[in-house]
Amino acid sequence: MNPEVNKSATDRASLLARLDGVSALDLAITSSHRRTEHLQVVSFESPDLVGFVALPGQDVMIDIPMATGQRVRRRYTIAALNPDAGTMEIWVALHGNGAGETWAQTAKVGQVIDGVGPRGKLPVNETASQHLFIGDHAALAATLEMASSVTRGSVGTIVSFPHQDDVIEPVFAPGVTSSSSTALSPITPGDGSALLHELAHRDLSMPRLHCYVNAEFGIVNAVKAALLSRGVDRDAISTKPYWRLGASNAPHGEPPKD
Ligand SMILES: Cc1cc2nc3c(=O)[nH]c(=O)nc-3n(C[C@H](O)[C@H](O)[C@H](O)COP(=O)(O)OP(=O)(O)OC[C@H]3O[C@@H](n4cnc5c(N)ncnc54)[C@H](O)[C@@H]3O)c2cc1C
Repeated sequence: MNPEVNKSATDRASLLARLDGVSALDLAITSSHRRTEHLQVVSFESPDLVGFVALPGQDVMIDIPMATGQRVRRRYTIAALNPDAGTMEIWVALHGNGAGETWAQTAKVGQVIDGVGPRGKLPVNETASQHLFIGDHAALAATLEMASSVTRGSVGTIVSFPHQDDVIEPVFAPGVTSSSSTALSPITPGDGSALLHELAHRDLSMPRLHCYVNAEFGIVNAVKAALLSRGVDRDAISTKPYWRLGASNAPHGEPPKD
C-alpha cells in the first residue's frame, strides 16, 4: 500500500489505492422496489459486473449523498450477482431515516452509482462440515447468500426480522445433508435477546462446526460471548458488526467501535 494514501478518505481513487482486490463499479440502477415492508431491493446493471467475481457474503461500498451535502459510503451485501448478464442487487433494511436507506428508497432508474468492491474477508469456511449463520435483518442478504452457497454437510440459519411479513426463507443447495432455518419475529432492531435465547437451546457440540455472526455491534459481541461460553472454538466463529444501535456508521461505512 502506498504510505501517502489518506486512510480516512472515501472517494473512489483513495479506496482503490488502499484496498486490496477491489475495483471500480459504475452501477446503473435498473429498479428499486419495496420487497417487504422493511426491505428495499435495488437492482443494478453494469459492464463492470460482467465477469465480476465476488464470494458469497461479500459486499460493495456505495457512495451515498446525505441531506447535509456530505457524501458517505455504505456497505451492502452483493445479492443475486449474475456475472454473465452483468447484474446484481442489494437488499437494504429499512429502519428509520438513515442516509443509506433514504438513498435506497429514492433511487431512480438510470442513475449511475459509484461503487467499489468486492469487500469482505469472512468467507464460508470450506473445511467446516456444519455451518450455523446467525444474523439480524441488516444481514439477511449475507446470511441467505452464504447459507445457499454451502453444497455439502449441514447448514442452519437463525435470523431476526422486524415483522413476520418481512420473513424471507433461505433456499438451501440440494447437496446438503441437513438444513434448518429459524426466523425470529417480530424483533425490535438491536434487540439480540431472542437470538441468544434460540442459541441457548442449540446443540453446538458437533465437530467441524463454524458459526457466522453478522448483526448489530452489541448483538455480535453478545452472541460471540455466548458461543465462546458454550465451548465453540474462537477460530470457528466469524463475526462482523454491520451497524451500531444509536450511532450512524462512519463515512467509510463501518459502525463506530469503543
Ligand atoms: C460488511 C457490511 C455489510 C452490510 N450489508 C448490509 C446489507 O446487505 N443490508 C443492509 O441493510 N445493511 C447492510 N449493512 C449496514 C449498512 O451498511 C448501513 O450501516 C445501514 O444501512 C445503515 O445505514 P444508514 O445510512 O441508513 O443509517 P446510519 O446513518 O448508519 O444510522 C442512522 C441510525 O439508524 C440506526 N440503524 C442503522 N442501521 C439500522 C438497522 N439495520 N436497524 C435499525 N436501526 C439501524 C443507527 O443506530 C442510527 O441511530 C452492512 C454493513 C457492513 C459493515
